[in-house]
Amino acid sequence: MSDAGIDIRKIRNIGIAAHIDAGKTTTSERILFYTGKIHRIGEVHEGAATMDFMDQERERGITISSAATTCYWKEYMINLIDTPGHVDFTMEVERSLRVLDGAVAVFCAVGGVEPQSETVWRQLDKYRVPRIAFVNKMDRVGANFFDVMKQIKERLGANPVPIQLPMGAEDAFKGIIDLITMQAIEYADELGTRLELEEIPQAFLAEAKKWRERLIEALAEVDDEIMESYLEGREISEESIKRALRFGTISLKLVPMLCGSALKNKGIQLLLDAVIDYLPSPLDIPPVKGVDPRTGEEVIRHTDAEAPFTALAFKVLVDPYVGRVVYTRIYSGKLHTGMSVLNTNTGKKERIGRILRVHANKREDIESALAGTIVAIPGLKNTRTGDTLCDEKGPVVLEGMNIPEPVISLA
Ligand code: GDP
Repeated sequence: MSDAGIDIRKIRNIGIAAHIDAGKTTTSERILFYTGKIHRIGEVHEGAATMDFMDQERERGITISSAATTCYWKEYMINLIDTPGHVDFTMEVERSLRVLDGAVAVFCAVGGVEPQSETVWRQLDKYRVPRIAFVNKMDRVGANFFDVMKQIKERLGANPVPIQLPMGAEDAFKGIIDLITMQAIEYADELGTRLELEEIPQAFLAEAKKWRERLIEALAEVDDEIMESYLEGREISEESIKRALRFGTISLKLVPMLCGSALKNKGIQLLLDAVIDYLPSPLDIPPVKGVDPRTGEEVIRHTDAEAPFTALAFKVLVDPYVGRVVYTRIYSGKLHTGMSVLNTNTGKKERIGRILRVHANKREDIESALAGTIVAIPGLKNTRTGDTLCDEKGPVVLEGMNIPEPVISLA
């Protein structure tokens, strides 16, 4: 296996950020479950497989202990990067934030914005990480989507825009109306059922129209084409709305908001759709900067498979089966087995014997990996967290913590 056929535009490197107890673990497990199920269609049984799969995973501790887990959703590769749940200002937290291109911020529908979620949010702000918000636990007593939205606006100073209207809350949380397509999804089962227009209660429909209008107004602020159509009273296509929303999210001007209940398997698949629709690909993010250790000159590396190899070791773990593995984000070029790379922090060369891609249920040996992806490399003796690995012909030490302006290219 290799990455040769991967389209970099179809990669999402994301983290799930939340204060403790909001549902980060449950949401991550559900994401791995649905992506695994879709990816391995025909291999797992429907229905009861849900809990079996998760219990097994939990026993083996794979989903929990991995620094980055690769899964697939609708032909997109999603690398779920573990962001520490406890928030301290260690270099480790900083590094894990640095390798993400986007984040899902999970809030509890009852607790809303809590002091700790504020700290996580500020860190994401510091690293200019675009994000979408998932209001979880809509089934709990006291759940209130709009209260949480108000808190995100007032306490976090963000510009949240609902892209779904919840139909009901608590025991009566029935589903959502998608404000972009105006389709209602009832969560009667895991997959949800699409309701016909006449099946949607009138009160929800009227409310959804109101919120859709607000969404368009928010988009008009960031998109001239929408502004024009809006002022002229023209119909705005689903495609234009999505494009403007993607732009608004990546430019950090807007935070699309969704809701659901991870525990009850409600809303996770639409959350995955939003990850691929609105969070950036490695081509949408700014290039990384570093210094040539020979000359002291600045080096810029774009996400480009043809550029010299440059990667950052962001986490070192001891894996029970493979031993010491170095989790690495490749920023440019290609990595392949048998290659020799330079660690510019130690000045030593390291040979790449194996490259692994870590999935929820297995480790996969791959022969090569491309810019924009994340891999685990066993057998590197001298590489520590924070080191730069690169092509010896184009040596670079990646800057510790650059906080660049976002480049909006919408690849
Ligand atoms: P984390 O600390 O953010 O990783 O949160 P967990 O995923 O461990 O969830 C904390 C608690 O909330 C657990 O007892 C979960 O079962 C529960 N929980 C998570 N999601 C939901 C949800 O959607 N609804 C309800 N009612 N409980 C949830």
